[in-house]
Amino acid sequence: MGHYDRIEKNRPAIARLKVRAAVTLLVAVCLSMAVIVTWEVWSSRQYHLHDKEVAMSNLAQTLASQAQASIKQADTLLFGLVDRLENDGVADGRLNRLQRLLGAQRSELSQIHGLFVYDEKGQWIANSNGAEVGVANNSDREYFIFHRDHPDRGPHIGPSIKSRSSGEWIMTVSRRVNYPDGRFAGVALATIYLSHFLQLYDSIDMGSNGVINLIADNASIVVRRPFNEADIGASLLKSPLFTQLLPKASAGTATIRSMIDGVERVVGYRRVEGYPLIVFAALNKDEVLAGWRKESMLSAFIVALLLGILGVLGYRLIKLMKQQNRIQVELLGSQERLLELNRNLELLALEDALTGLANRRQFDLFIHAEMGRARRNQTGLALLMIDVDHFKAFNDQYGHLAGDQCLRSLAAIITDYIKRPGDLAARFGGEEFSVVLPGTDYVGAFLVAENIRRAVQAAGLAHSESPAGTITVSVGVCGYDPASQTRTEDLIGAVDKALYVAKASGRNMSVIAN
Ligand code: GH3
Ligand code: MG
Ligand code: MG
Repeated sequence: MGHYDRIEKNRPAIARLKVRAAVTLLVAVCLSMAVIVTWEVWSSRQYHLHDKEVAMSNLAQTLASQAQASIKQADTLLFGLVDRLENDGVADGRLNRLQRLLGAQRSELSQIHGLFVYDEKGQWIANSNGAEVGVANNSDREYFIFHRDHPDRGPHIGPSIKSRSSGEWIMTVSRRVNYPDGRFAGVALATIYLSHFLQLYDSIDMGSNGVINLIADNASIVVRRPFNEADIGASLLKSPLFTQLLPKASAGTATIRSMIDGVERVVGYRRVEGYPLIVFAALNKDEVLAGWRKESMLSAFIVALLLGILGVLGYRLIKLMKQQNRIQVELLGSQERLLELNRNLELLALEDALTGLANRRQFDLFIHAEMGRARRNQTGLALLMIDVDHFKAFNDQYGHLAGDQCLRSLAAIITDYIKRPGDLAARFGGEEFSVVLPGTDYVGAFLVAENIRRAVQAAGLAHSESPAGTITVSVGVCGYDPASQTRTEDLIGAVDKALYVAKASGRNMSVIAN
């Protein structure tokens, strides 16, 4: 019983633990779902970016090859031209032939806008366009100044310019011409249409905001798609390409923010072999990630929806659990209150539950009150104490339920013989009954005792273990003298003694206390 009580008391604590476990589980499930989706979205983003980085790297390689081939063709012509000028000189007859040769060579290669030769003062000596020689001076052009001031014999790529002869945007490839003694003799120049590159660049699908750049070694833009005159010649020296990427590797990929338009791009870049040029291809990062973004939004939306549903269901479940716990606690409380009430009621009860006679409490109250009254009125009072003979043996033989039934029958017999309304029959305890007879002396009481004893015997309730063969009772009888100092305990002690004598004398008899 005590153990059961302890479990009952622990129940609210256990229930709280269960709620906490449910909350923890719910939070853990939601968190892990969120983590998994975040991780998946992140790796999908990395995959999308990486995919495009590879594409840009490949594109940079292809465009570098194309630029190299285009420029090499022009540069090969220049190389031959320089060789011829240095070895044959520019005597009058030769100049005409050179002029014709340049015209012929130019028409062979569609990307070439023109071939030009300048002397050491920047005066036109020959050109492929057949224009009058000597009308223009180009000593102010970057390539002229460069070669005049640098003894370097390699090809030079200068800033792109708008042709003075045709108004077209062109790229310049030039080589220095020397006198036999090594002094500066002039410049041989090939110009290439920027449109040659732009046509190709425009044919490549780069999204709406993609960029292809051909950049000179000194960081100035040679060609840029999308084409914008103002961008040509702009310096990218401070761009991440020159500050971060090129110092590390001559080819590669990265994600960087453009200096020109501030847009973040996925880029591939590569140095053109043999020429001071860099090819740079870049896709708008936002565009690269547009598909990914849509995909992620959808999965984020679905997961958010699931999390929402899970959250609502979980919240309801937990609320329900809490409610149940509260009800349980309330129930336990009221159960406890009921038990307490029951105990109090039991204390207040005056009737014996088994037999319906007065209980011990009522007996105590009653005899106390009656003895007081007897003393005041100087009237008599008698007490009977009735004990069943060999009742333990009866229980052992017939069982406790039969024993209880027997006690009920005895109570009924006793009640039958209590005639006066002032009398009280009580179950004193166990299988002992007591009868209080106010206003009766021991002689009258003895008669009542004998009546009861005989009636019990006459009832013939079978008791095989008793010598009599039936249920019998022994009775102690005691009268109270109001003039004496006898207290309740003394009276009960005396009647007990009389009962003991009855038992000792063979049972089934009534004995008066002396
Ligand atoms: P004795 O003749 O000396 O009285 O013998 P006994 O066996 O009756 O001895 P005692 O009076 O000591 O017996 C008490 C027995 O009464 C013990 C118990 O088995 C039985 N008893 C007491 N109260 C109850 C009860 O409420 N119901 C039942 N069935 N048996 C009870
Ligand atoms: Mg007894
Ligand atoms: Mg007995």
